[in-house]
Amino acid sequence: MTRDEIDLRSDTVTRPGRAMREAMATAVVGDAVWGDDPTVTELEEKTAALLGKQAGLFVPSGTQSNLCALMAHCQRGEEYIVGQNAHTYKYEAGGSAVLGSIQPQPLEFEPDGTLDLDLVRSKIKPDDPHFAQTTLLSLENTHDGKVLPMSYLSDARAFADEMEISLHLDGARVWNASAALGIPVENIAASFDSVSVCLSKGLGAPVGSVLVGNQDLIDRAIRWRKMLGGGMRQAGILAAAGIYALDHHRDRLVEDHQMARSIAEQLGGVSGVNVLDVQTNMVFVDFSDFAGDAAAGLANEGIIAAVQAGPSRFVTHLDLPHDTPERLVAALTNAQGV
Ligand SMILES: *Cc1c(COP(=O)(O)O)cnc(C)c1O
Repeated sequence: MTRDEIDLRSDTVTRPGRAMREAMATAVVGDAVWGDDPTVTELEEKTAALLGKQAGLFVPSGTQSNLCALMAHCQRGEEYIVGQNAHTYKYEAGGSAVLGSIQPQPLEFEPDGTLDLDLVRSKIKPDDPHFAQTTLLSLENTHDGKVLPMSYLSDARAFADEMEISLHLDGARVWNASAALGIPVENIAASFDSVSVCLSKGLGAPVGSVLVGNQDLIDRAIRWRKMLGGGMRQAGILAAAGIYALDHHRDRLVEDHQMARSIAEQLGGVSGVNVLDVQTNMVFVDFSDFAGDAAAGLANEGIIAAVQAGPSRFVTHLDLPHDTPERLVAALTNAQGV
């Protein structure tokens, strides 16, 4: 990606800059599977501390982090409740069922990205040999760029305690939720038994996620990570990028949110474009009949985006040039004329 390139498909497209690469190049490493890599240990401890949990586990991807969490929480033949469009359920190749023998019970999300706790209650199976035992509820924050209300998180915690089930957060973008609310990420994590966070989304690291929870849960997750092929050796090179991202790229997430709002405001003035939602770093837009021309117009200007009939999203991140909103609007305005 050249400095001026605009890629709005996802916040995963960022490339490590010079200072992050320098941190990677100079990282002190060891064999992390033996527990000998000080940089991996530092990243795990730092992330756990930020999220107010006992322990952390560095894994290659958010997919593996969520799967390690599910397998650490649930035994074979147990069930977890999850959103129909949740990443864990829909976008992770069915790993909980295939590799974990964990039955998912998917439910529709509410428009605000929450799961209706009365609906969840109605799906929790009684203790009867006919049923898989429900042992876990999994939420996502942010979900499609939406921030879950703090009051909902404490309601979900009270609910999980009442039902005696565990509560997992897919917090791939929990950093964005924290930045949007201006609340420490620890306060968000406090409602959950485990949280999976991504370093490779808005934080801009090339690779990696961290699962945090109590020591007992992380000890179980370490065995699953090994089985899933996620035991990495001199992984401090990657962990160094994660530490750099935590130190330097969290505070600037508000800039991504500002740019997303600016895109939404400016797109509001383009005919054929209906802005549906913007809360954090994602702008959801409906192009309806204009989708074909819009896609061609963006391609003409070298703007990379996934435009489709139905809701399309533009995702902001740290590699976008400052004039992205203006160039996006110009490209779409020009596309009107063709
Ligand atoms: C990206 C993402 C993940 C993990 O994705 P990986 O590509 O496996 O790192 C998990 N949950 C959500 C909500 C995500 O956006």
